[in-house]
Amino acid sequence: MRVVGLTRFSGLALVAGWALSAVAQGAYTGPLFDAHLHFNDEACVHDAPAPGCPHPLPDVLARMQTSGVRAVLANSRPNDGTRALATAREQTRAAGVTVVPFVRLYRNRADYNNWFRDGTIVYLVQAELAQGTPAGPYRGLGEFHLYDSANANGPVAKQLMALAEDKDLAILAHVDDVAIDLLMAHTPTQGQKLRLIWAHTGIGGTPVARVDELMARYPRLMGELSYRPGLTCDGGQLCPEWRALLLKYPDRFLIGSDTWINQRWLSYGELMQGYRVWLGGLPADVARQIGWDNGARLFGVPTPKN
Ligand SMILES: [Zn+2]
Repeated sequence: MRVVGLTRFSGLALVAGWALSAVAQGAYTGPLFDAHLHFNDEACVHDAPAPGCPHPLPDVLARMQTSGVRAVLANSRPNDGTRALATAREQTRAAGVTVVPFVRLYRNRADYNNWFRDGTIVYLVQAELAQGTPAGPYRGLGEFHLYDSANANGPVAKQLMALAEDKDLAILAHVDDVAIDLLMAHTPTQGQKLRLIWAHTGIGGTPVARVDELMARYPRLMGELSYRPGLTCDGGQLCPEWRALLLKYPDRFLIGSDTWINQRWLSYGELMQGYRVWLGGLPADVARQIGWDNGARLFGVPTPKN
């Protein structure tokens, strides 16, 4: 309790600090929805004393709070990290952060390259879904990776895409553009109803025209923008073709931290400030959509009053 109180106090001072500098630069100052957050075992092995937990819960919550992040799409390797966030109801409420839990398909690093053909992953997913979390039911599956898009046709990938559409679970997928089409094809509606969040929106540099084509083809495809090559140009503002794409589909993009390694936790505040800078270069209503509304709408998260 005492730790939370102290964290809140210093957090408020920091919030005031970034708000002032943000106003000065014309940056977006509204709430942020972090649609790609991991609380992996590198950050904290839960129930382990330091050094097994360099970023304990109060630390990560303070980073969100001081960055004005008011909701997170949480998914972790193993799922213990997400469960820790979802279980800490009092602390997350005190930090003003809503946790939207996703089931990760990974128990360890080896699963990154094997989940799509390993039938035991389906049991892992089913067990987690049945159990739910103290923050409510799981709302999606992922993040998962496909380094070779052909693996989108693996038996477990097929099964989980159909399950997701059937149960209206969202998907967070780190894949290339070819895999988007393959994954969508595994659902009964050919992807027309699948809420697929494309992690990084083509981390290999998928051309903007191709992203546009996929956005048009799949009405519930969303693009999350962490690590996206070519997104920002001078002064940290959006490059022209990305600005045009975001203005064309203002209700289809999300921002995310991708805290896959601890270095991302250490730079969490700067990452969020980077988003605030280019969001501030967009019309205010579009900035608000991409910064907050799109994620909140996807998962029914109420907008914070303060
Ligand atoms: Zn990630």
